[in-house]
Amino acid sequence: MTVFARILRGDIPTVPVYQDDLVYAFDDVNPVAPVHVLIIPRQEIVGLNQVEPSHEAMLGRLLLAARAVAEKKGIAEGGYRCVINTGADGGQSVFHLHLHVIGGRSMSWPPG
Ligand code: 5GP
Repeated sequence: MTVFARILRGDIPTVPVYQDDLVYAFDDVNPVAPVHVLIIPRQEIVGLNQVEPSHEAMLGRLLLAARAVAEKKGIAEGGYRCVINTGADGGQSVFHLHLHVIGGRSMSWPPG
């Protein structure tokens, strides 16, 4: 079981930043910026390589939730970055699909 599955079960306490029937959002434990929120599907899906057409509603909800998170955290107007790390080269470390919402400072490009 991944750490995010344990968070969804409530085994590891988190404060919800946003939640609905399909996704759950909470602050990253190791933030890389003043705002760093993770949005995860309630369904256990390893990553982008495992998504299917039946996940379309959840995938859309991840982005709608990102907007809600950005507005709640006060970074919508200033701007922010959404990231889905996928697999080893993508830097994925937790194998439960998640969208990072990162903001509160200026971002550089390209990422490291
Ligand atoms: P990845 O590297 O897989 O894209 O991102 C995983 C993220 O999960 C990392 O930013 C890491 O800090 C975060 N993370 C790992 N374990 C926990 C945890 O127990 N609680 C929270 N809130 N975040 C976690």
